[in-house]
Amino acid sequence: MKQPQFWINPNTRLRFPQFCLEWQSCDKSDLLAFCKMDHPRRRTYMAGTTCVHLIHSEDYSRLFVLYHESQKFENLRLQKWLRENIRDTIMARASISLPKRLHELENRHQLYAQSVTVKKLRIGVLGQCTFDNHIRLSPLIVIFPPALMDETILHEMAHIKHHHHRKSFWNYLSILLGSDAREKKILYDLAISKYWELYTFLMK
Ligand SMILES: [Zn+2]
Repeated sequence: MKQPQFWINPNTRLRFPQFCLEWQSCDKSDLLAFCKMDHPRRRTYMAGTTCVHLIHSEDYSRLFVLYHESQKFENLRLQKWLRENIRDTIMARASISLPKRLHELENRHQLYAQSVTVKKLRIGVLGQCTFDNHIRLSPLIVIFPPALMDETILHEMAHIKHHHHRKSFWNYLSILLGSDAREKKILYDLAISKYWELYTFLMK
């Protein structure tokens, strides 16, 4: 196994409007006692004489990491376990909140897709609109800043009227966004590129 691109440890700050990772250091005895309790939203990683627990909130908007302060995080198996669980929680969060947001925007603009699916798309693809107006959204966009999340969704919704990227598409998207869509696209790409490595690392 090769070194991860980012190490996940209590200094890792993943605080997005739609999803937060919360670190809580606990006593060893509490951590071990918790192992014996039944909890439907708990995942546990056993590490020698201690353990790390993950618990997500019911709506998947928060993921708590319970750990002992002596816990060593420089372990590739533990890293993989953490990353995969963070990814799965973000996916679950996306499946709830992206369709909800799309429906709000549909009502606001009186523009309706046939259906919406949240699924992993090809690298670099954040959304798709098929010729019969089925919209697919990448779960990744749920951790974007809200304005960028909306822009991605509105971009796909604009394809309901224009199935191409010609001038009429950009004019129509500008109406939906309330400002010049081409100018916004430049700022959008810039904003995303800053976090792109982290986003793709988390979601790979
Ligand atoms: Zn497009």
